[in-house]
Amino acid sequence: MNIHEHQAKEILREFGAPVSNGIVILSLEEIKKEIFKLKTKKFVLKAQIHAGGRGKAGGVKLVNDLKELEVEAKKMMNKVLITHQTGSEGKKVKRLYIEEASEISKEFYLSCLVDRETSKIAFISSTEGGMDIEKVAIEAPKKIITTKIELNNEIAKEDIEKIISPYELDQNQKDEAYKLVKALYKILIEKDASLIEINPLIITKKGNLLCLDAKMNFDDNAIFRRPEILELRDLNEEDPKEIEASKHDLAYIKLDGSIGCMVNGAGLAMATMDIIKLHGKEPANFLDVGGGASKEKVSAAFKLILSDKNVKGILINIFGGIMRCDVLAQGVVNAAKEINLSVPLVVRLAGTNFKEGKEILEKSDLKILSASDLNDAAKKIVEVIK
Ligand code: ADP
Ligand code: MG
Repeated sequence: MNIHEHQAKEILREFGAPVSNGIVILSLEEIKKEIFKLKTKKFVLKAQIHAGGRGKAGGVKLVNDLKELEVEAKKMMNKVLITHQTGSEGKKVKRLYIEEASEISKEFYLSCLVDRETSKIAFISSTEGGMDIEKVAIEAPKKIITTKIELNNEIAKEDIEKIISPYELDQNQKDEAYKLVKALYKILIEKDASLIEINPLIITKKGNLLCLDAKMNFDDNAIFRRPEILELRDLNEEDPKEIEASKHDLAYIKLDGSIGCMVNGAGLAMATMDIIKLHGKEPANFLDVGGGASKEKVSAAFKLILSDKNVKGILINIFGGIMRCDVLAQGVVNAAKEINLSVPLVVRLAGTNFKEGKEILEKSDLKILSASDLNDAAKKIVEVIK
């Protein structure tokens, strides 16, 4: 789960990390009521969307007074912001963050994340902070320092030294950097964050460290024990189909292709997407209906796939273990009848009760192509939608 910059900064503040003062507004009228809380004359107006790259897309504006702030806020509110992270459809700005403007002397990069490969926590630091970190990673990878840390109660001094080594700080700044690194490490563990990114981390003209931007991502599987984090969820920022899927406890991720996939088990779902690509087409979604899905759940999943206008055909690939193929077949038949299935359907069933499942599908008057194995299924669906 992602949260907004202003929420991430609130957490940083709570853990003693340096952030500027700011106010969040959901409507333009709130500016006049809230702005007295900020102590400067110059502000930075920041669109709050769950995507980076806002600066380059016009989502971060420096303004010199209240009047200018109101003019710019009016332009930014409800604007569809297209950044390199939003995709071409962009994201509509529904809330703004107004922050005291800082005088920047240097912009650094600092992040920490769970490194699944080594089961460690990785800190990534670089002097090349700001808006082009992706470019630095490709063109000058040596400028990016990765420090991997064993999960201990305390983060070791040597590790902190390595993390902050590129920055070349004076003693005062070093003390601040120590505190910041410890705070990020603590947040990652105590809040079950999977990623915290501060870009830029700046040195102000006065010589202090300050987190000027903050992105945080949290582990969905641990969110049940972090109700205070779940409260920060903003459904406006999520795909409506994915919200619908989470209501039915379905693991669904929308993709850009034309072949809808209904599969049980995440590994099999990945393999199914791979083999569709191998045959020259793109999957429209990832979908894992899970182990013991009911007919109702299968129906909900099927309707979800079909609600995507890009879907030109569906491939159902079920390996019945705990899941019974006859239950799956009945769920599909029920849903297909209810919504007047208009795209071709290829079904591959194997495992528990697959004969019964096949029979149910054959007896229904749905036009279903059955496939003998995964390769055959992918080939058939690709051919039939041509
Ligand atoms: P994004 O990463 O989405 O582009 P940032 O919050 O990093 O958004 O802002 C982009 C740039 O705008 C920063 O690199 C920084 O130069 C500038 N900026 C952001 N917040 C402030 C602020 N409070 N004061 C001065 N400059 C800022
Ligand atoms: Mg940034």
